[in-house]
Formats: sequence, structure tokens, C-alpha cells
Amino acid sequence: MSVELPKTQEVVLIDDISEGYDTIKYVTDYPVPDDIKDDEILVKNKYSGVNFIEAYFRKGIYPCEHPYILGREAVGTVVYVGRRMAHDYKVGDSVAYIGNSSMAQFTKVSAKSPIINMSKFYIEEELTDELFQKYCASLINVLTVMTFIRESYKVKKNDNILVYAAAGGVGLIFDQLITKIGATVIAVASSDDKLQLAKLHGAKHLINSSTDDIVEKVNEYTNGKGVEAVFDSIGKDTFETSMKVLRLKGTFVSFGNASGPVAPFPLSRLSPKVLKLVRPQLYGYLQEKESWDYYSKEFIRVMDSGELKINISKVYQLGDYKKAAMDLESRKTTGKLILKVPQ
Ligand code: NDP
Repeated sequence: MSVELPKTQEVVLIDDISEGYDTIKYVTDYPVPDDIKDDEILVKNKYSGVNFIEAYFRKGIYPCEHPYILGREAVGTVVYVGRRMAHDYKVGDSVAYIGNSSMAQFTKVSAKSPIINMSKFYIEEELTDELFQKYCASLINVLTVMTFIRESYKVKKNDNILVYAAAGGVGLIFDQLITKIGATVIAVASSDDKLQLAKLHGAKHLINSSTDDIVEKVNEYTNGKGVEAVFDSIGKDTFETSMKVLRLKGTFVSFGNASGPVAPFPLSRLSPKVLKLVRPQLYGYLQEKESWDYYSKEFIRVMDSGELKINISKVYQLGDYKKAAMDLESRKTTGKLILKVPQ
């Protein structure tokens, strides 16, 4: 079952590896997929999320074939349903999904991807532009934090937890969900304005990485004990600091490379403080059906409860992705950035 589709579409792609932004291309005559398999749906996207991971693909930190359509999450409307997907989706359904190539007008999404059929949970009048933006801004960030604070390190009441980039997209969610458990967030960010925003989202102790000594401050806030866990999305530049601020038997959750990948190191470095080291990726935690059933329900519950502030700092046009990437990677932004897809 399908609707009449155009032959070409607008997409954001990279055509090569580059440290800079010159390989990001906005292409207006890219073919609309016409090879949708039985276990896929085709989605006409409304909003697509901006995530730091695109920089890793562009810089070659994570491999990909070129040309490569960017984007990892979006919300939109189902316009074609593969045969084996017909029991769960119909043309016209509103969906939110995590999947490749979402910075496009049309994206093929496989049954293996995390997909929420919003039309099953909301009546038509509730499916507002505001709700679509909120879902688009939350899917990866909220699920990342939900899974990491439960599975990478199970955050407990009274823990002290160090969070870098605490005013970023993922960071503001960490601040809120860790605080909700009754643990203390020690927030690191590069400016006082960013730290104030982290505080508004629950962070208790604030460390300005541009002016403060992080290790000294953590010692002060934890009476010299160190933190139970560190959620480190910065990678190369913060590895040594993270090792130092962890307490005995602490957990190092390394989940990003904003400053570059962590250099190889001997495992024996973990011994003196018997540290645990986890290198999670969201998709791994959502892969099994039971996990997705649990987290998708929890995600919808949290979205509907209003207990989480979702901070969308800017909505860019799809064609302005390059500007969004420059803003994000030059540390100018807070909260989440999303792209409005031309309809
Ligand atoms: P953010 O909004 O957090 O933006 C990145 C922030 O990182 C910047 O604002 C900046 O904050 C900080 N930063 C520190 N050093 C650098 C640097 N050298 N260059 C650029 N930024 C730097 O982005 P996202 O919320 O999209 O992602 C946050 C991190 O989480 C990323 O590393 C991303 O890859 C990771 N992630 C990993 C997932 C996984 O499955 N493993 C899933 C989702 C996200 P400040 O100026 O305050 O230091």
C-alpha cells in the first residue's frame, strides 16, 4: 500500500571524509528510495534530529561509504508499508524512529530499527507539531540516558556522578534523570551560562572547564573520595581527568569522542582503583525485543508525564544542516538542535 511519491528528494549527505565542513552537501535531486523491502516502511520525515555522531562519520572516526546520507533519528508519516510490516503500520501513521539516513525527505526504516508508532498512542488531535518536535528532540537523547544510567552504570541514590557537556543535548537529560534518582550531578561545561542551564536541569555542583581544575573541584565536592561514575562523552581530552576523579571501584562510562577518540591504553591502568570501564552505544541496549518493549514504553511514559524538560535550542531548515553542525561542533549550542524537513 502506498501513496503517489515524487522521483527525487532533498537530502543532506557527505561525499568524502573531511575534518572541515566542505564535504557536507545539500542535494535537491537525490532519488527517492523505490526498493522498499517486505520488512521496511518508507517514512516522509517532518523533523530530523542533529547529533554529534555525524561529525564522527564526516571525520572518518566511524567508517561509512560515500555518498552517505546523514541523520540518525526523525519523526514523520508512513507513506509505504512493506508486506511483512502491515500488521504494525499503515499508510498515514505517524512514527518516530532511530535509523540511518534521516536527513532526507524520505527514509527507508527497517523492522530492526527502534520505531514508535505514535498513531497507536495518540489520537489525531494530539499529534501536533509541538509533539513531533518534542519526540524528534528526545528519541536518541532520552533513550541514551535512560539506558546508560540503568545498564552502563546503575545510578543509585546518594551517588556522586560526573557529567561532561552537562548543558548539551544528552547532558541536560543526564542532569535531570540522575537527579531524579536521588544522586548528585557534578556538572562540567565550558561556560558559566552553560553551567547555569545545567543547574536549572538539576545539576548540584558546577565545574567550569575553562577556568577550574576539574580534579580539584571533584575532590572538594566529594570530600576527597571521588565519584561513583563518570559519563564521559568528550573522549581524548578528558580521559586522564576521568581516570583521576573516579573513586575506588568506580565506573568509567566512555560514550563519545567530541574531542577525538581515546588513545589505546594498557588495561592494567584500571587495576589500582579496580575500575570498571564500559564503552556503550545506544543501539546495543535497544536491539533485543524485550529491551525495546521496556524502553519504548518507559520513553512514552516519560514524554507524557511532563517530568522531563526537553530543551530545543534551535530548529534549523534541513538545507541549513551545515550551519547546525558548525554551531554544535564549535561548542556554541546548548540542548537539542533539530532540522525541519521541507514537505
Ligand atoms: P552536545 O550537545 O553535548 O554537544 C557537544 C558538547 O561537547 C559541546 O557543547 C561541548 O560542551 C562539549 N565538548 C567538549 N569538548 C569538545 C570539543 N573538543 N569539541 C566539541 N565539543 C566539545 O552533543 P550531543 O548531545 O549530540 O552528544 C553528546 C555526546 O554524546 C557526543 O559525544 C555523542 O557522540 C555522545 N552520544 C553517544 C551515544 C552512544 O550511543 N554512545 C548516543 C548519543 C550521544 P562544553 O562546551 O560545555 O564542554
